[in-house]
Amino acid sequence: MNDKLHSYIEGLVQNRGALFTEMELFAAENKVPIMELAGIESMLQILRIQKSKKILEVGTAIGYSALRMAEALPGATIVTIERDMERIQIAEEFIGRSSLTDQIILIKGDALEVEDSVSDQAPYDAIFIDAAKGQYQRFFEMYSKYLSEDGIIITDNVLFKGLVAESEIESKRIRNLVKKINDFNHWLMNHPDYHSIILPVGDGVAISKKRCLK
Ligand code: SAH
Ligand code: MG
Repeated sequence: MNDKLHSYIEGLVQNRGALFTEMELFAAENKVPIMELAGIESMLQILRIQKSKKILEVGTAIGYSALRMAEALPGATIVTIERDMERIQIAEEFIGRSSLTDQIILIKGDALEVEDSVSDQAPYDAIFIDAAKGQYQRFFEMYSKYLSEDGIIITDNVLFKGLVAESEIESKRIRNLVKKINDFNHWLMNHPDYHSIILPVGDGVAISKKRCLK
């Protein structure tokens, strides 16, 4: 999609209120990679249609997506994991200032090390993976077992600014990361237990649905 059309769509999204606007500005100023607007709006709509009651999020950052999910799904519980102490503190502040505190459980630690706390709250109707891009497959494998029968898994940044389709990337670090995302995308799209699609909105959002057994 061209930039003009993209701005057009974003311009039509309703105002998110004072707290979310402040968070969006904070993220932009401090380079916190919160989900892009068209991406999060698409995800929230899918979660509304699914009527998710319990959601696991890997990667809280400052709590923006967790709070947006909590607001979009009144009564739902969001269990969200973050390992960066500074971001945890900021997230706690923003969550504390919202009226959605009761809906959010923040697990502090590395997502690959807190499986016990996550399993305590299982099953989850939706799992949202939005953390270290090189670890997506591990997050998916570790937590998909806690997904409810009709559950969905949403993964952000699978198109990585379009770099997944570029053949020449100068930086070795970026090239490695792109390869990891590419490998994940292939693995995901060929997973025997899930139907997956990639929506080219935001930074690329994959939606995976467990295949029905009967
Ligand atoms: N979901 C947020 C943005 C998350 S940005 C939003 O849209 O508002 C990604 C976050 O994942 C970063 O804050 C980073 O610290 C965290 N992260 C990365 N790897 C992680 C891991 N293994 N365990 C826990 N948090 C992780
Ligand atoms: Mg993201």
